[in-house]
Amino acid sequence: MAQDLGSSQNASQNLTENLSKLRNSELHSELQNRVDEERKLLHQILLLIIEIDQRKLYLPMACSSLFAYLVTLIGYSPASAQRRIDAARMMQQVPELGKKIEEGSLKLTQISQAQQAIRLAQKKDKTQISPSEKEQLLTKLENKTGPESELILAQEFDLPVQTQVKQKIQRDESVRVELTFSKEQMETLTRAKELLSHALPGATLTEVIASLAERYVKQRTAVKAPTKQKDLSSLSQDSNSTPEVTGCQNSSLRPSEKSSLKSSQKFSLNPSQKAVPSSIKKAILSSNEGCQFVDRNTGKICGSKDFLQADHIQPRFAGGGNEPTNIRGLCSSHNQYRYTAGC
Ligand SMILES: [Zn+2]
Repeated sequence: MAQDLGSSQNASQNLTENLSKLRNSELHSELQNRVDEERKLLHQILLLIIEIDQRKLYLPMACSSLFAYLVTLIGYSPASAQRRIDAARMMQQVPELGKKIEEGSLKLTQISQAQQAIRLAQKKDKTQISPSEKEQLLTKLENKTGPESELILAQEFDLPVQTQVKQKIQRDESVRVELTFSKEQMETLTRAKELLSHALPGATLTEVIASLAERYVKQRTAVKAPTKQKDLSSLSQDSNSTPEVTGCQNSSLRPSEKSSLKSSQKFSLNPSQKAVPSSIKKAILSSNEGCQFVDRNTGKICGSKDFLQADHIQPRFAGGGNEPTNIRGLCSSHNQYRYTAGC
């Protein structure tokens, strides 16, 4: 056993050393090959789960269910275990599914989404969905993203649109809220999240909504308090001393906050005469195109809207100016990559 561990550590060390010698294209192919193997392995794992389920092997092993067995004895997280159970049971009825998993045209998450929608639809309509109907449904989900699959499933089964707001107070006094946003409202929220990505990297939707509410409250209370006393000088002082607003002036991603500042503040916080004009930055931010970094081999454009920054196509040190045709949006990762890679 100790020998196995030693050899495993050596193999890992050898692999790390070998990987560092690979060219970029070889490294990419290597990962692609491993991911293909991973999908084949996933198919095999699902076949094993089906066999274990049929034998109810988990019962003599002191697990009350297949789910409990996969979590406690095999070590999957509850969500991973449920996705594999959903996929395994679907594969029993639709054997073709295994091939689609191996090809990568259907992901575990989509299969799990389909199983959940089928359960809801069967309960709602009090009918059973046949294996051939399930197969047709899965064909429609092939090569679709998670949100696209969700939409197809909701429309296919005419699942009810939940609009009622649900709130539940939890034992630590936090409140769990279930909300429904329209398509347009969700797009606006997603945009707000992108614009806040400098200040709130990787924020959840909850954090974005909480942050927007906090900013609104600060903005309103900063205006209202001195107005009551008719003290305009204190109003100016209050807005200057709001750390949340002052702290984000170096950001190129927050035009709405910049526009709320006085011109003297803008000047003092952005004194360089060579800085990209705010009108151009705003144009980049309001554009829906996102990061314009292009992979020269594939033509793929990054398109990320997170941490978007104004970048000089012809760098300033190489004589590039601030004219709009020389400015483009790059995400911070590609902005940094461009200069470290010298491209
Ligand atoms: Zn990018």
